Amino acid sequence: MVRGISIKLLFLLILTVASGFGAAASAWAEPFRLTRLQLGLNAGLTRLVVEASAPPQAELAASADGLGLQLTLPATRWAAPAPDVTAGGLVAALGLPLLAPDGSLNIAIDLIEPAVVERAFHLGPQAGRGHRLVIDLRPADPNAFAAAFAAPVHLPLDTAVDIAPPPPLAAGERRRLIVLDPGHGGQDPGAISASGRYEKEITLNVARAVAQKLRATGRYRVLLTRESDKFIRLNERVSLARKREADLFLSIHADSLGGDRATRGASVYTRAEAASDTETEALALRENRADQIADGTSTTEVDDVVSILLDLASRDTARLSSRFAGLLTASMGETTPLRRNALRAANFRVLSAPDVPSALLELGYLSNPADEALLFSEAGRDRLAAAVVAAIDRFFGVEAR
Ligand SMILES: [Zn+2]
Repeated sequence: MVRGISIKLLFLLILTVASGFGAAASAWAEPFRLTRLQLGLNAGLTRLVVEASAPPQAELAASADGLGLQLTLPATRWAAPAPDVTAGGLVAALGLPLLAPDGSLNIAIDLIEPAVVERAFHLGPQAGRGHRLVIDLRPADPNAFAAAFAAPVHLPLDTAVDIAPPPPLAAGERRRLIVLDPGHGGQDPGAISASGRYEKEITLNVARAVAQKLRATGRYRVLLTRESDKFIRLNERVSLARKREADLFLSIHADSLGGDRATRGASVYTRAEAASDTETEALALRENRADQIADGTSTTEVDDVVSILLDLASRDTARLSSRFAGLLTASMGETTPLRRNALRAANFRVLSAPDVPSALLELGYLSNPADEALLFSEAGRDRLAAAVVAAIDRFFGVEAR
């Protein structure tokens, strides 16, 4: 109790000094104010939220003793109450913001064990909150910690960076290889939303989010058929999964239905020579057209090859594909609206690997405003990705944490 009071007093003192300093350093057109500091847990990660009057930039470095971290916010005025929570998750103690002579604020973060940044991103003002820098930490071994903070890390991270390999598995445990296939790319934009945004963008973003979550479990290896806005032929996507002996292949797409703004929801597809319905047959034709966009190749000869491959497909692969597709449909249904008869089949060329269980996920409809908003929001993307990861965990018999 006594300690709590003295910390609050110290905070007031720092606030006063920091504000004074900020006023003195008014060469700054817009004094940057730190308005809130929050520590919490999110999906098994330790989350630090820095809220400020403008999008916060920060540097995260190893502390001098190498046992913790120091967060530095350049030329900042501290105008916030003391955080309610100063320990939790991987954080043993969140220090008081201390003003450095150059006007920056330093926040010491004592760690229970070495940790690295899993992700760090900006959130814009919403629901009464200001600009936020969200930093998620996850445990790491001392080597990964040393490597990650060999130099100060500038936050937010531009992209989701896999800083360190996932924690080691128990002896004899094999990590499954998941190949994620973000649909379209390069000169093939895929479907285009009412407001002119591209399917190829959302498929890559969701695939990245899924990859990050899968890697974070430490249970999977993950490969993306494309890591950037690049055109990849359908058969190249399939052969990557086969060559690497993937345990599962998931192609990720988002559909669009011309003038139909009402239809929304996710749907899941497996491979079948005869389509389950005419709508799905048309969808498969649209998705199979991707290669033509690049080089005008006729689909006829490739379709012959596909038929041969399909004949070779083992019943086990088909059964596993169906099982995964069922689990994925159920998992998506817990998160997002589903199409009626959400589990369908057609002759999708990208699902033609005879030896890799495969499914295709249509996340929703870019022609529907609600789906478009969901797919292009970070929160929506995160929820969809979590649903995919839950389905993969169930498929491999792992209970999600
Ligand atoms: Zn597509």
